[in-house]
Amino acid sequence: MRIICLSCGHKVEVDDAYDDFEGLVKCVVCSAMLEIRTEEGKLKAIKVADPLGGAASKPEGIAGAAIQY
Ligand SMILES: [Zn+2]
Repeated sequence: MRIICLSCGHKVEVDDAYDDFEGLVKCVVCSAMLEIRTEEGKLKAIKVADPLGGAASKPEGIAGAAIQY
């Protein structure tokens, strides 16, 4: 299953262990923590986790600068 990173747009590949899962997945490209919920291999909910409490306002600008391969 693939999850699209909300921060950078990268397709994060996750294995079958995540078919029924609720918790955090880390984007390997931008290190964003994605809070996901899946059922039967389908993504039911996704959002960027905000462990610092005040960081929610900055992902847009960072994402624009981070997409350099
Ligand atoms: Zn990312």
